[in-house]
Amino acid sequence: MGLKLENIVDRLEAGGGLQRDELAALLFDDDLEGITYLKRRARHVTDRIYGTDIYIRGLIEFTSYCKNNCLYCGIRCANKKAQRYRLTKEQIMECCKQGYALGFRTFVLQGGEDAYFDEKTVCGIVHDIKAAFPDCAITLSIGEKSRAQYQAYFDAGADRYLLRHETANETHYGKLHPKEMRLENRKRCLVDLKEIGYQVGAGFMVGSPFQTVETIYEDLQFLKELKPHMVGIGPFIPHKDTPFAGEHAGTLEMTLRLLSIIRLQNPRVLLPATTALGTIHPMGRELGIAAGANVVMPNLSPATMREKYRLYDNKLCTGDEAAQGLSGLAKRMRDIGYQVVVDRGDYRRE
Ligand code: SAH
Repeated sequence: MGLKLENIVDRLEAGGGLQRDELAALLFDDDLEGITYLKRRARHVTDRIYGTDIYIRGLIEFTSYCKNNCLYCGIRCANKKAQRYRLTKEQIMECCKQGYALGFRTFVLQGGEDAYFDEKTVCGIVHDIKAAFPDCAITLSIGEKSRAQYQAYFDAGADRYLLRHETANETHYGKLHPKEMRLENRKRCLVDLKEIGYQVGAGFMVGSPFQTVETIYEDLQFLKELKPHMVGIGPFIPHKDTPFAGEHAGTLEMTLRLLSIIRLQNPRVLLPATTALGTIHPMGRELGIAAGANVVMPNLSPATMREKYRLYDNKLCTGDEAAQGLSGLAKRMRDIGYQVVVDRGDYRRE
C-alpha cells in the first residue's frame, strides 16, 4: 500500500495527528528521502521559532543516593556497587559560580530521590543560588514530591522542573519500575508542576525494554495533551549492574526520528540533544540538533564526582560533555551553523 512519508510529515507539521501505522512508518521505514525530509522539516520549524541559537544548561548532579529502584537506572537503591556521594551547598554554589563565568544562565540540579535533601535544604539551596545569580533560571530534577513541596521549591525561586514520565503506558511503566511506583502519581506530579507555574519537562527513553510502537504512540498522545515546555528523550543504554544489563540499547536513528516527530508535534518545545545521545554516537549531539533539538546540557558537577553519577554504562562526562569544555562544544556547534548563546533560554510563547 505504501504510506508516503512526505505526506505524513506535512500533515504532522500542519497540526494533524499521527495514526499508529503512520508512526510505525516514520520510525521504521528505510525510505531515506522521506526520513531526510522529516528531519529537515523539524529543523525548519526549530529555526522559525528559536533560530540557530543553542541554549545551554549547566547540569549539576548533586546526589547519587536514591530511594527508588527503577530497573533501568544505575543509581537504583538495590545497586550496592553504585558509588554514592552528596554535594554540600557550598560545592553546589561553587559549580554555579564556575558555570556563570563560563556563560551558563540555567542551572539544572538533578539527583536521585534522596531524603537527606529535605524541603528546607532544597529551598535553602534554591534561595541561595537565586540570590547570588538573579539573572539565572533554576531547574530541579529530583523526582516525585508532594504538591506542597513543589510549591515550596517554586516559592523559593525554582523556575523549571524536569520529570520524565518514562512511558505513558501503564503496563509498560510497571515493567520498568518497582510496584511502589505508579504512572498515575508521576502524571499527577507533572500536572501539579504545571499548575504551580513551572516550565515543565517530560520525556522518555528511546528503545527501553518492552517499548513498542503502541507505547510510543501513547507517549506522543500524552505529550500532545500535557503540552510540556521541554521534552527530554535519549536512547536507553544498559547498565551492567541493573536487571536490564543484557538488554539492547536504543538506537541513534530512532532517537533522531523521534526528536523530529516531537518537534513537529509540539513546535515550541525545548528539546535537548541529550548526554545519552552523545554517548551512543560521537556526532550524536550534532545529529540531534540537525533533527530539531535546540538545547544541550553539559556537565557542571565537580570532576571527581561525575564518574559516580552513572545512570548507564560509558556515560560521557568529560571533553565537550563537560561544562569546562564549553569552548569545544561551542566550536562544534559553530561548525554546523549554530551558536551557543549566553541566555536563560526560556520557552517562547506565541
Ligand atoms: N530522580 C530524578 C532524575 C532521574 S535521572 C527523576 O526521577 O526524575 C534522569 C533520567 O535519566 C531519567 O528520567 C531516565 O529517563 C534517564 N535514565 C536513567 N537510566 C537510564 C539508562 N540506563 N539509559 C538511558 N537513560 C537513563
